Amino acid sequence: MNLMERMFLPAIFKGMSITFSHLFKKRPTINYPEEQRPFSAVFRGLQILNRDEEGRERCTACGLCAVACPAEAITMEAAERQTGEEHLYREEKYAAKYEINMLRCIFCGLCEEACPKDAVYLSQTFAPSNFGRTGFIYGKDDLLIPNPLTDPEGHAKAKGTIPQAK
Ligand code: SF4
Ligand code: SF4
Repeated sequence: MNLMERMFLPAIFKGMSITFSHLFKKRPTINYPEEQRPFSAVFRGLQILNRDEEGRERCTACGLCAVACPAEAITMEAAERQTGEEHLYREEKYAAKYEINMLRCIFCGLCEEACPKDAVYLSQTFAPSNFGRTGFIYGKDDLLIPNPLTDPEGHAKAKGTIPQAK
């Protein structure tokens, strides 16, 4: 080991050069939540209960999504559509209650694949943090997409990538 190496100067200069080289590189960090990274096209986020183009609920409470769910996260109660409710529900049966336990959900997407009515799909949003367990039981009010006829902006937002606080 020569004198320079004994003084560790080469190693110090090499380390400093690496440090300075990072000053001119693009920052990998972003100012969340003001800035947000785009999700991958295959990202599977929070479920949404879908409506048709006339704003009617698509779900018929057939239960296939609950059967397909490996985490047993979905529960529902079916009801018969009454006369005069044709503008609310697409089929003769609908889900009077539909719940997903987000603490159980593993976002596998099997519920979406199992649904024959295009009624549930995983969006590009995610479940916001919460201090209580009950806040992670998402009911129909939380899951149902806004009506595209009466609330086109909310409908577009629900399909987008902006997380919505509960
Ligand atoms: S994404 Fe998977 S785990 Fe979550 S509710 Fe759907 S089927 Fe169940
Ligand atoms: S979301 Fe689809 S699979 Fe699940 S109960 Fe409704 S219609 Fe059936």
